[in-house]
Amino acid sequence: MAMTETQERESMIREGVAELCKQFPGEYWRELDREQAYPTEFVRRLSEDGWLGALIPEQYGGGGLSESDAAIILEEINHQGCNAGACHAQMYIMGTVLRHGSDEQKQQYLPGIASGDIRLQAFGVTEPDAGSNTLAIRTRAVQQDDGSWVVDGQKIWTSRFFHSDMMLLLARTSEPVEGKPKWWGLSTFLVDLREADGAIEAKEIRTMMNHATCEVFIKNLKLPAEALVGEEGMGFRYILDGMNAERILIAAECVGDGRWFIEKGAAYASEREVFGKKIGSNQGVQFPLARAHAAVEAADLMRRRASELFEAGEPCGAEGNMAKLLASEASWQAANACLDAHGGFGFAEEYDIERKFRETRLYMTAPINNNLVLAFLGQHVLKMPRSY
Ligand SMILES: Cc1cc2nc3c(=O)[nH]c(=O)nc-3n(C[C@H](O)[C@H](O)[C@H](O)COP(=O)(O)OP(=O)(O)OC[C@H]3O[C@@H](n4cnc5c(N)ncnc54)[C@H](O)[C@@H]3O)c2cc1C
Repeated sequence: MAMTETQERESMIREGVAELCKQFPGEYWRELDREQAYPTEFVRRLSEDGWLGALIPEQYGGGGLSESDAAIILEEINHQGCNAGACHAQMYIMGTVLRHGSDEQKQQYLPGIASGDIRLQAFGVTEPDAGSNTLAIRTRAVQQDDGSWVVDGQKIWTSRFFHSDMMLLLARTSEPVEGKPKWWGLSTFLVDLREADGAIEAKEIRTMMNHATCEVFIKNLKLPAEALVGEEGMGFRYILDGMNAERILIAAECVGDGRWFIEKGAAYASEREVFGKKIGSNQGVQFPLARAHAAVEAADLMRRRASELFEAGEPCGAEGNMAKLLASEASWQAANACLDAHGGFGFAEEYDIERKFRETRLYMTAPINNNLVLAFLGQHVLKMPRSY
């Protein structure tokens, strides 16, 4: 059967990304993993080849590709055994600037982001005392008489902080006001970390996978008036917009991980012989892989549906959340089936399974915990009473 236009386009993207990824084999990632070091060279090549700037419109030097295309890029990176978590945030953080930033901000930053000269990888939302309750954040930005801002506060889990030139920061600028929605009063700022002049200190948090994530302390940080993105008080809405994109793209990464695990598990199970027969002929080995395959492919369909709605400018909160929920569970299911199929060898570093196993587990917890996805579906889609 002839390929559709979409299939042809996807296949071209996959081939290009796979070609680049093949130059960064398991050995490369294993070594970084041991040192908890950042994949600088991989990210540089992704930028140089235009994959990281794919979503930036052509007028700003980007690829002008769609959300669906971006999803295929990230999916394929993970499918090839690499880890898009090192740089995925640039794709959705940039969207906040693109959708809500001023013309000046777009002119000033987007071309540099597209070329890789400016790294916008850090996203400062989560705080230690607020956790999943973003509206409870306490980082405060106070406007001065000359229009500039002074920021004080603390963030946690700010990933890629040390590998970023800019950070998109969410801070409270106004206290809740009667008559305004509950989410009002938070604002987004584009912080140029190169000009932070000692007002920001960060400390890396070592985690079970290599993720370059940090706690960040902000003291008396002076920002120009132009650092504000969009309208004051509207930041939470802007971040939510970006969060739909984030959930869809993370779901795509999980689909990529899931396919990597299933292909690896099925190949091994078709070769390894124990008791004089291939282990894959045992249903105890075969069925978990087959079941995980079905789950990954179903999650991919939901991811595609969410991308479609996102691109059409339609509400896609439910679909984006469902895609992230289903895909993160499916990749975790695939990870376990693959590990089980490999027996003891699954635990050996050289097979890369234990590394990918740790990496894919994150997505059930971040960027939003699956419990909170279920709460969203229960309350906003099924109209049941709120749990918080
Ligand atoms: C490696 C890593 C990288 C990250 N990168 C970033 C980043 O770059 N930028 C950023 O801003 N954040 C980042 N995060 C933060 C991430 O988004 C949060 O960890 C996540 O939102 C959950 O917040 P929390 O960890 O404080 O958990 P909590 O909010 O404390 O929740 C703890 C547990 O309680 C459950 N829970 C809480 N309330 C409810 C409820 N009402 N109903 C049911 N269950 C509930 C949660 O589901 C969870 O299981 C990162 C986190 C990690 C681990």
